[in-house]
Amino acid sequence: MSTVQHRLIDCVTELSIDRSALRLLYRDVQQELGHFCGIAGIFSLDPINVPEQLFFPLFSIQHRGQESAGIAYRRANETVVYKDLGMVSQVLARYLDRDISSHLGIGHVRYSTHGGNKLENAQPIHVRSNKGEIALAHNGNISNSRAIQKELFDDGSIFQTSSDSELILHLISRSRRADFHGALVDTLQRIEGAFSLVLMHNDTLMAVRDPSGFRPLFIGTKGGLTVVASESCALDILHICDYRELKPGELVRVDSRGRHHEMLSKQLPTRQCVFELIYFARPDSTVFETSVYSSRKRMGAELARADGTIGDVVIPVPDSGNSAALGYAEQAGIPFELGLTRNHYAGRSFILPTKAARKLAVRMKLHPIRDVISGKRVVLVDDSLVRGTTAKILVALMKEAGAAEVHLRLSSPEIRWPCFFGIDIPTREELISNHMNAAEIARAIGADSVRFLSIEQLQRCLIQPSDYCFSCFSGRYPFAVPLADAQLEITDAVCATTHTGNTS
Ligand code: SF4
Repeated sequence: MSTVQHRLIDCVTELSIDRSALRLLYRDVQQELGHFCGIAGIFSLDPINVPEQLFFPLFSIQHRGQESAGIAYRRANETVVYKDLGMVSQVLARYLDRDISSHLGIGHVRYSTHGGNKLENAQPIHVRSNKGEIALAHNGNISNSRAIQKELFDDGSIFQTSSDSELILHLISRSRRADFHGALVDTLQRIEGAFSLVLMHNDTLMAVRDPSGFRPLFIGTKGGLTVVASESCALDILHICDYRELKPGELVRVDSRGRHHEMLSKQLPTRQCVFELIYFARPDSTVFETSVYSSRKRMGAELARADGTIGDVVIPVPDSGNSAALGYAEQAGIPFELGLTRNHYAGRSFILPTKAARKLAVRMKLHPIRDVISGKRVVLVDDSLVRGTTAKILVALMKEAGAAEVHLRLSSPEIRWPCFFGIDIPTREELISNHMNAAEIARAIGADSVRFLSIEQLQRCLIQPSDYCFSCFSGRYPFAVPLADAQLEITDAVCATTHTGNTS
């Protein structure tokens, strides 16, 4: 930890301010939406260094969760688990210079808000049960977890974590089906929501994608090697070229006898998370059989089509706005400039106590290049607007750097509703689009105009729009979700007062 970081922490200690609250405040500035997790699994017919091989795909999907990392692998008929708080490079680098022979392992990277940033919530979760030894890594969010948890708790179950993933293991263990496979299928019929899973059961690797297909999950093979991972970039890093996405509702079992695929009997309309394409997945990944990079460029171009020529230069908020800004610039015929420099060393490992310091945090991460901004009408492109905190600071930075006008363009519709399928979205109260329309937001953040991509425009950018979830924009969920009463009250208030529409 640097001297500056120590001084900041000392400062917080002196002020007797709650550190965890400040850490969250800092995260608000760093990243306004959080992904819950990324997963990977490996099965090899020949013994290989599985822990080392898991390091690389997990490192590739680090963007899906930065709070904890972990692996579980088989060795001499035992399951070994190692997990800790921290990034993959901190937690799992210990395996890069060890020679561990194994044929099976799974891994996980985690974002912490659901269940808290505690070691007990890190995954994989490992249990010895009446169905054998099981290790589980989960990406997603079980939307009926509260009801199931209450039922199990009332029935005497003891929970070791506050994560919804543990429920899956409870349900498997309590299933009346005696065999693991039957108990797993039983459990998958019971849970709802988003669940891409990798499991180790004794010496078998299992992978499942939920029937709605909210989160992506890939399987790739090379000879006797099978690799499963959240994104295609995690397979690319292992030079696995022969891969495909699991179908929604597909269950794969891999063991020494081969690979077996089946479809769960529960059939639901496909509802892939459109935010994977807007923001979460890496631009060099292909998810939902679509190039993430090209999708983002189409979203930017769609924004530009609605705008006409309103600027002299298009500047992305790096890295999330890069591809959409390129698409915007190409469509509008306006120069694209990297007018904001991102400091890649500005991590999340320190805390900042005051509003002024939070502004400094944005400056430390993103800094404008005066030469390309001064005197220009700037079209500033980002992926989404959540609380508006960062946008306000960025617009101020642009104006300080001499921008004549700043027009903020978002390559997603207004976010107004929570997600129950694996994305951490702030409460409805905190979402700026629940309180203001685009013109009001522009005034509030000091921009000359603000424009969002509409749901219809976004749908035009997708190859099969009916296969996607848009619930956080529309409030129309694919099935019943536990919206709190308080949130519904806000809904009514917002419906009565909020007007939609863009300004320009
Ligand atoms: S509600 Fe939004 S973030 Fe959640 S799965 Fe649907 S599109 Fe994705």
